[in-house]
Amino acid sequence: MPIQPATTALAIVDAQNGFLDGPHGELPAPGGLAAIPRIVGLAEHLIRRERDAGRGLVVAACGDEHREDCPEFTGPDAPWPRHCVAGTVGAELEERIAPLVTEDAGGRWFFGKGRTNDDIEYSMTRGHDDAGRGIVDRARAAGITAFVVTGYVTNVCVLATVLDLRAAGFEVLVYTPGVVGIPGGDGLPTPDEAIAQMAAAGADIADSVAAVA
Ligand SMILES: [Zn+2]
Repeated sequence: MPIQPATTALAIVDAQNGFLDGPHGELPAPGGLAAIPRIVGLAEHLIRRERDAGRGLVVAACGDEHREDCPEFTGPDAPWPRHCVAGTVGAELEERIAPLVTEDAGGRWFFGKGRTNDDIEYSMTRGHDDAGRGIVDRARAAGITAFVVTGYVTNVCVLATVLDLRAAGFEVLVYTPGVVGIPGGDGLPTPDEAIAQMAAAGADIADSVAAVA
């Protein structure tokens, strides 16, 4: 295991109401809501471990903050249904996830993506915090070398995030009980194929908290 606890952050991708199979699901990952306690459980375990070592854990999250006319869901070739429009409940972090994203090492580690209509932004590395900073630069400045990745959806934004973090030189461990995908097909890999792509890119795959810590 190459991941060093002292320089490892937790990454939570798109844990927004719009991607969960609850009352506000717009593009829901089936079973996504059931994974929330597993993500929270992992976070609490890592936070406790770091606290016992006299450190803090950086919890980085991202989410879509689309405009009403985003090309992801408007126009004849739009790939997705309408989801996560900025300012709507669909774009809000799930209520058990939101308290985990705190101010640490220079501010809140939340990276909004898809805010303009210029580019499709699936990866956490494409988002920006309120000061305009991206996660790669902030993580490097904070001495973070590795990420444990969780969130939604496995075969789109989690996959893009993991591949981009690996390309940027970070160690990555994917916690499989904390990622949930949508059905593959039409050019989209299945969740299992996405996990295989992440592993092929050098990510470690963990199926239990014990395998993470
Ligand atoms: Zn989107």
